[in-house]
Amino acid sequence: MIEERNAKEEIIEIMEKCIKCGLCKELCPVFKLIREEQYSPRGHAILLSNKIFDKIVFDCSLCKACEEKCPLDLKICTAIRKARQVLNLREKENPELKNIKDKIINGEGAFS
Ligand code: SF4
Ligand code: SF4
Repeated sequence: MIEERNAKEEIIEIMEKCIKCGLCKELCPVFKLIREEQYSPRGHAILLSNKIFDKIVFDCSLCKACEEKCPLDLKICTAIRKARQVLNLREKENPELKNIKDKIINGEGAFS
């Protein structure tokens, strides 16, 4: 619990500084492909600064392209990595979450 709380605090500290300028968006290979805001670095910043920890954080290659153009030099990859840790910790505490995720990945449907 303390581990999760510390990680969350660090993530929010990074992401809440985002000024939502969008300079990072067009550099992101995932956003270029999917064209949905939540997959962009700015989208990650908005979600995570609002304490929304979604599996979308795994849809990032950690390429750091976004960090190159960020005027605030935000450590976006660090925040995304830590958000993955938070989700992994939650899975450990609640194995049923992992079962559901595995079923989705295997195409079995979450509740079959
Ligand atoms: S690190 Fe992630 S969010 Fe940033 S540009 Fe690369 S894929 Fe996009
Ligand atoms: S470039 Fe930096 S400040 Fe601008 S939207 Fe992207 S993460 Fe936020």
